[in-house]
Amino acid sequence: MLDVALKVLKEITSSGFKAYLVGGFVRDYLLGIESNDIDITTNAKPKEIKEIFEDSCLPSEDYGSVTVMKKGIRFEITTFRKEISYLDNRHPSEIQYIDDLYQDLLRRDFTINTICMDEEGEIIDFLGGRCDIDARIIRTVGVAKDRFYEDCLRILRAIRFATVLHFQLDSDVVDAIRECRGLLKKLSYQRKREELDKIFASPYVKEGISLLLDLGLDKDLELSTLKQVTCPVSLIGVWSILNVCDKYPFSSNEKELIQKVQQALSLNNLDPMALYQYGLYVNCVAGEIKGISKKKITEAYKNLLLYSRKDLKVDTEDILSVLQKDEPGAYLKDIYCDLEREVLYRRLPNQKDFLLSYIKKHYS
Ligand code: ATP
Ligand code: MG
Repeated sequence: MLDVALKVLKEITSSGFKAYLVGGFVRDYLLGIESNDIDITTNAKPKEIKEIFEDSCLPSEDYGSVTVMKKGIRFEITTFRKEISYLDNRHPSEIQYIDDLYQDLLRRDFTINTICMDEEGEIIDFLGGRCDIDARIIRTVGVAKDRFYEDCLRILRAIRFATVLHFQLDSDVVDAIRECRGLLKKLSYQRKREELDKIFASPYVKEGISLLLDLGLDKDLELSTLKQVTCPVSLIGVWSILNVCDKYPFSSNEKELIQKVQQALSLNNLDPMALYQYGLYVNCVAGEIKGISKKKITEAYKNLLLYSRKDLKVDTEDILSVLQKDEPGAYLKDIYCDLEREVLYRRLPNQKDFLLSYIKKHYS
């Protein structure tokens, strides 16, 4: 990945511009962590970047950033900038393109995100980011409180980085979060969810949740049941406990899963009917929350005698014929449910003759 990244830098610098890797990629590289995408900072304007990478630019342009795809890697190329003043504790009201790397680094959130790498692979570290990486500390660039007032997303980013990287928050950051946490109400639920997902999906989710609770952010984020989240729990499990589908955005698929997990929580997740109706995944997530081992649930699932209605050894035609009916109707649903229940609880063998005589006896 680094070799492709350095080549991309060279493409920009050979056109006469300055360009550096910055942000997550350099930070994660120094920590020996694989990155998904790469941020580049440059004095080339978006238009000039588009000319250099004509065929590999993605069409969207977001606040003076251009996205370039090279060898399947996504590069976010952003022009050096100064953010003049901020609106609504989140967005800069004005951006000014500048020519100076140092000034560009000053607008960034945390020191660990300001380390740069040039086209030769040399590290450039104006703001002591490396020292903070070594000390495993999240420290803001400049006064923490001011930086959180400018943009309150940084509060959640601080907690996200502390969680995912397993770093400590600097004491000024902790104090500033306590002071500014009310601003989180202004942040969109979409942005809150993106950061929370990263916290909840981290191997250090337990520490992340403790941090959110210790700082009182459960209130500002409207996560009144955060204390109840036991670990380790999958992402869907966490959101099922949090029960905030009315506020936070979820896809219809996610909403359905969350609802099913919530229903499965009140069932015995080793029960054949629960396993049949809700499936292995939903019961395992409910099991995680309740402390029932995945192995036990999987074993019980493997022992089911049916996985779908199609596994019953009779079909609608057989039922109609044994009951001497011509038309299917709502009554069929009751019969199927009854048969499924009887077979799943092993009170009735799943054999055609047994099933037919059962139907004859109870439904004729
Ligand atoms: P990752 O990509 O792993 O989520 P990242 O640090 O690269 O982490 P990005 O959102 O890709 O995060 O942003 C790239 C860089 O832009 C950051 O490293 C930081 O320097 C700067 N940055 C991003 N968001 C903010 C912000 N809200 N305030 C100040 N600087 C920011
Ligand atoms: Mg990034």
